Amino acid sequence: MSITARCITLSSGALMPALGWGTWEMGERPAKRGDEVEALSLGLELGILMVDTAEMYGDGAAERLVAAAIAGRRPRTFLVSKVYPHHATRRGIIAACERTLERLETDYLDLYLLHWRGDIPLEQTIAGFEALRAKGRIRGWGVSNFDTADMQELMALPGGQHCVANQVLYHLAGRGVEWELLPFCRRHKVAVMAYSPLGRGRLLRHRALQNIARRIDASPAQVALAWLLAQADVGAIPKAARVTHVRECAAAAELVLSPQVMSELDEAYPAPTGPTPLEII
Ligand code: NAP
Repeated sequence: MSITARCITLSSGALMPALGWGTWEMGERPAKRGDEVEALSLGLELGILMVDTAEMYGDGAAERLVAAAIAGRRPRTFLVSKVYPHHATRRGIIAACERTLERLETDYLDLYLLHWRGDIPLEQTIAGFEALRAKGRIRGWGVSNFDTADMQELMALPGGQHCVANQVLYHLAGRGVEWELLPFCRRHKVAVMAYSPLGRGRLLRHRALQNIARRIDASPAQVALAWLLAQADVGAIPKAARVTHVRECAAAAELVLSPQVMSELDEAYPAPTGPTPLEII
């Protein structure tokens, strides 16, 4: 069975699958590697064709694991990786990207993100991203963990408007971005990628979510993901290292929540009523 997953049209015109696979903490334990490759491969086989990774994850181990899982599927996979802030100088970012591409056994990334804001001036990072884009090493670039003030600063810089995505913590029990950041990104056509969309697994143990999920014959993970994916310009990147979890998360791409369920979720997990500092893991 292959799932027809929705895509987000980025401001560059590229299509990014709205649902993808996180890889943080994968590839780090040799004993688990085989199962993790199997899980990620299954996720792609099921039709969820985006993978999110980073040079930071296991010091490159997650990128190597991704290479094994996407073997034979590269052209159909939307591949995202992230650069450390301390590598994000004009030259440093190019060198970091080359190492990432080597570990991923590919010659381009679909999306390259600045993992979080560091001390290096954004002008330098933009110059590095743009140089990589001109060389065809990346198809697009974005940021992660940028709050509204960071985004405003970025957008005001030459080339800043080429940022296509901001990856931030966002889940049912962590809706702070809805106050200001999400509307800002929406206005500037910057896609929001929700990381830790299952609240690192803890959200799934909430009684309120479990009760709603049981009633509609879905799992808590599926409801949590479908709730995020109900917004046309929001993506989600759950991490699932077990095949049962992968199957469950993949099926969320086809779950449409009724207005009644959406309002029950709103009641159990209210939207913010004022400015909320961006949560960062
Ligand atoms: P998450 O996706 O919210 O939750 C992952 C946890 O949920 C794992 O323990 C996983 O278990 C479990 N899980 C997955 N599917 C499940 C299911 N159907 N039923 C029950 N449990 C399920 O947490 P995350 O890893 O923090 O976030 C996802 C991805 O976002 C990361 O892997 C990473 O790629 C990205 N991220 C980015 C940043 C950033 O700064 N940009 C920060 C954090 C995360 P198993 O693994 O055992 O299946």
